[in-house]
Amino acid sequence: MSNNDILDNIISKVKNAADVACKKTDEVMEKSKLMWTRNQITGDIKKTYEKLGNVIYRSIKTDNENVELVEEYIKQIDGLLAQLTQINEKIAELKNQIICKNCGMLNPVESVYCSKCGYKLTDDAEAEAAQAETAQDGGDAGAGQEAAQADASAKDEASSSEE
Ligand SMILES: [Zn+2]
Repeated sequence: MSNNDILDNIISKVKNAADVACKKTDEVMEKSKLMWTRNQITGDIKKTYEKLGNVIYRSIKTDNENVELVEEYIKQIDGLLAQLTQINEKIAELKNQIICKNCGMLNPVESVYCSKCGYKLTDDAEAEAAQAETAQDGGDAGAGQEAAQADASAKDEASSSEE
């Protein structure tokens, strides 16, 4: 091995280490960005629930329903919950985990079935879900259910993975 080879070797090692460090930093950045977004969304959901409660409180007090406003807030909450689900999935992915769509449990990414409820976690379950969604043609029927699951997974995530 000539001196030049040794030098090349060292340079490439340093370069690789830098690349790895860079990738790590990107992941950390990505993760904290996602965590921040999740906090924002969770805050927005809380605020919207509060507004919704307020409208319902007033409507009952004054015996004067404001159905449009109630529906508007519910729509907002459903949208936020859907965003929260996506964020939670991305965070889980970064941690090499997969979220059970049935119960919200975090499982190692290579799991086939959920360790808590036994729900199938693999791709064909996902493909089926995607198919069902397309079949629904983006209708609102499944939104409530998805939202409830998103809420469950958010809670689970918060309690099971404090870091
Ligand atoms: Zn499960």
